[in-house]
Amino acid sequence: MPNTPTHDFLTVASSVVMTPALFSLMRVSEVSQPSAVIVASVVCAAHNVSGLLFSPDLDLDSRIHQRWGILLFVWKPYKWMIPHRHFWSHGLVLPPLLRLGYFFMMLLGILFVLESVLRYAGLPLPTWHAAIATQCIDWLVAHPIITLSTAVGFVTGGAVHSIADWIVSSGKKLVRVLFATRRSPAYARKQVPWSGVHTRWLFDPFSDDHPRHY
Ligand SMILES: [Zn+2]
Repeated sequence: MPNTPTHDFLTVASSVVMTPALFSLMRVSEVSQPSAVIVASVVCAAHNVSGLLFSPDLDLDSRIHQRWGILLFVWKPYKWMIPHRHFWSHGLVLPPLLRLGYFFMMLLGILFVLESVLRYAGLPLPTWHAAIATQCIDWLVAHPIITLSTAVGFVTGGAVHSIADWIVSSGKKLVRVLFATRRSPAYARKQVPWSGVHTRWLFDPFSDDHPRHY
């Protein structure tokens, strides 16, 4: 599997290619320059945040956790709940958006607990968590282009990671099948049967299929 620095490089490099391409595509489609700049910038930022901070590898102990500092504990339940390299972490489209929703819900949950504890201690506080949730949802509904651009960037940021894992996993499997020979019994013992390139884990939430480390 690609390690974290490789995934980081792929995330940043793909955004460097994707952002001007997206900007050019919008300009060709007669989108105004200011709108094209805003959309391309938001997609680029969301793509990098998704790949570097909200990485699919939050489903295991990885360098990504260290990037969250004191908020590291927010991702512990996620790591416990989500099987490693399963659709729910590494699948395309839905999982990156679920990570964003999960993070938002966890922050609201923490705020709710804080409010409840302080209220119990005699400090009558307003329900900030409800007000923040309502304001965020209202803002997202009122700015559909920004919302959609953010969602697209989050999806592409996760997809670059998952596709890189898929390519490396399948490539290593293919090399082992092709080159494990009788001349190398120790290597041949580990030989794996070629049963096609697994792709269900990228698309199927109900699949038990997730690529092994070869
Ligand atoms: Zn991964």
